[in-house]
Amino acid sequence: MIDSGEFRKYAHDFVDWMADYLENTGDYPVKSAVGPGDIFSQIPDNPPAEGESMDNIFEDFKKVILPGMTHWQSPNYFAYFTANSSYPSLLGEMLTSTLAAQCMIWETSPAAAELEEKVMNWLREMIGLPDTFSGVIQDTASTATLVALLTAREKQSEYRINEMGYPQQGHRVYCSSEAHSSIEKAVMMSGIGRKNLVRIPVDDSLAMIPGELERSVREDREAGLVPLFVVAALGTTGTLAIDPLEPLSEICRREKIWLHVDAAFAGTAQVLPENRWMIKGIEHVDSYVFNPHKWMFTNFDCSAYYIRDEEALIKTFEILPEYLKTRTRGQVKDYRDWGIQLGRRFRALKLWFVIRDFGVEGIQKKVRDHLDWAGRLAERINQEPDFELQEPRHLSLVCFRFRPGDIREEPELNMLNERLMQKVNESGKIFITHTKVRGLVTLRMVVAQTRVTEQHVSNAWELIRDTAREMIS
Ligand code: PLP
Repeated sequence: MIDSGEFRKYAHDFVDWMADYLENTGDYPVKSAVGPGDIFSQIPDNPPAEGESMDNIFEDFKKVILPGMTHWQSPNYFAYFTANSSYPSLLGEMLTSTLAAQCMIWETSPAAAELEEKVMNWLREMIGLPDTFSGVIQDTASTATLVALLTAREKQSEYRINEMGYPQQGHRVYCSSEAHSSIEKAVMMSGIGRKNLVRIPVDDSLAMIPGELERSVREDREAGLVPLFVVAALGTTGTLAIDPLEPLSEICRREKIWLHVDAAFAGTAQVLPENRWMIKGIEHVDSYVFNPHKWMFTNFDCSAYYIRDEEALIKTFEILPEYLKTRTRGQVKDYRDWGIQLGRRFRALKLWFVIRDFGVEGIQKKVRDHLDWAGRLAERINQEPDFELQEPRHLSLVCFRFRPGDIREEPELNMLNERLMQKVNESGKIFITHTKVRGLVTLRMVVAQTRVTEQHVSNAWELIRDTAREMIS
């Protein structure tokens, strides 16, 4: 095992490598081109009996592992949603890993608990949430949504399901037909059951139709079912469609249904006051999640979860074995009671570093640039006769299809767009992904990478356009 002196040497070498990597991520083929099993077959079947030199380990990292990595930090990355990093975030992560504290309760690291509370307050203010919300960091939005659903289930059942199990099915959960799969997973895991997830139809902009929600709730009540939980998507995964929060919150308030907001990616856009129209109606929301690890320059994982009824959350998750009893209980925040896991990483540190290093204005500037560049990209696509833009464009996601005039059959157009995506991705120069809008294959470009510039966006678009035209010439 390496000693302190060697650790110092390798750590310096690695930091040099990390800085070079981040300066040159744009030069790597963005999407890994390896095939299934290529990496597995290069790794010995048995672990080494004796320790190996760090030089060899690092060489293998570069030779074996790196070719099998997709470069999410590349400025040519436009796929899925981003999982951003930044220099201050990395520095914070390095310190978190060095301290390697397990921050389950206040006593196991008071600074971790108190910084988390403070940073979540900062973030709440930054994205315009009312101070009636309490915040806690979860690993992912999927976990936060499950936590919200379990809390709603317990509060509605007066905490009986935690004690007795589900007496009978009857709870109903609602989200739009475009909402993320994590909602379906939460419904499966909470014991509510997939058949009780109601998918509400969407309008032309792919946002939930409030009248349809109202109708479903009414029909369910008439059938003796219990409407429990509605998820409003502020930014669906496919096209970033924004569900209309104000009318949805009005329905939920009237019907006494828990309203959860999934703003996993788009929540970051709320740092700009001009985007706060999205959260009109927030005063009646029960819980809200967004991921700084997507668009707010903070390493995965870091999901910001806000809840109005802190007591209900704690009552749902607290469990107090003898070995976790402390003298400070009740005076401090013991975040192990605020979610599923007992052990917790010190995630607040990297977020603190990011907010302090960028400053709120620095974050706003980057987000505003992304929105402007996405807007200009959309304008350019709109001007091309053989491309079709998905309207309306939402925030920093541009959805479009190649539609040359002489090809009219939808199955053929779908195949053409899939081939186009594959071809540009195989070039290694950029990475884009697709979705289906009303059954039509649609290409997506997310303009949100920490290091992306307008030039990268422009180059990517020209590559797509020229490749498309070459394909049919
Ligand atoms: N909700 C939405 C709208 C998403 O787009 C995603 C992921 O992209 C998620 C939830 C799940 O996020 P996580 O990976 O943090 O669970």
